[in-house]
Amino acid sequence: MHNLQDYFAHQPDSHRIAVLTISIFVFWNIENALALDMNYKKWRHALTNSYFMLVDAPVQFVLGVALAFATGWVAMHQFGLIYWLPLPNVFTQFVVSFVLLDLLEYVYHRFMHIFTPLWMVHLVHHSDRNLDSSTVLREHPLETGVRLTLLVLWVFVTGAGLWMVLARQFFQVISNVFTHSNFRLNDKLDRVLSLLIVTPNMHHVHHHYQQPYTDTNYGDVLSVWDRIFGTFSRLSADEVVFGVDTHMALEENADFKNLLAMPFGPHRESEDFSEEWVWQNA
Ligand SMILES: [Zn+2]
Ligand SMILES: [Zn+2]
Repeated sequence: MHNLQDYFAHQPDSHRIAVLTISIFVFWNIENALALDMNYKKWRHALTNSYFMLVDAPVQFVLGVALAFATGWVAMHQFGLIYWLPLPNVFTQFVVSFVLLDLLEYVYHRFMHIFTPLWMVHLVHHSDRNLDSSTVLREHPLETGVRLTLLVLWVFVTGAGLWMVLARQFFQVISNVFTHSNFRLNDKLDRVLSLLIVTPNMHHVHHHYQQPYTDTNYGDVLSVWDRIFGTFSRLSADEVVFGVDTHMALEENADFKNLLAMPFGPHRESEDFSEEWVWQNA
């Protein structure tokens, strides 16, 4: 445990990028064998999504400094729930911090759907008409800012140390690439796995273009929150259409500049939507 603690406390940025790159490489190749839909320009689509890494990097750097400060401060002052709860050792502290950080992701994700200005930012992620392993990169820098700011604040509540946040991030990255992948698990396997963790089958429903499905399956790594708070749903693979019914036009949601501007565009209601967009191919 000490070795792992040490490793994650001093994990180089290059290792974090490697975990993301290797995860995408692995799931990209599984997709090539098992994909639900290959009827789109996969490399071009991935290139558009990968541009977000460049614009998100400065936000990640600034809030990474804030995160290092917050985790250092709570450790020095033994401040936060993991210190106040009667937890016998560092392993149980890690498990509790993992669960609490996952709860934050669930709550933050619901906020992004409830409040219109936040939804306009989160919409960029949802507007992807061809969900696959590269969609995990598609996060507007404003959303990165909101997500990481809440994480820094949550550190002060939970007392999570830097190594705990980064160890969780290791699992989170692999899980997020997996759940966005363009393949489905066998139904029986999905029913077992989705009792504990979010599966591609679950997250695909969250990316369905119409309500009420978009507002279900908010979970990040653990699926338990959707079950506890009544937001769990299922939809078969042949019924799921990726995208958002207000933003189905490819000129809009397959162009990086338009995607960056999307949160500042007009808010549209579902009634403005035309069925013919669903059949438009990338
Ligand atoms: Zn969402
Ligand atoms: Zn997603």
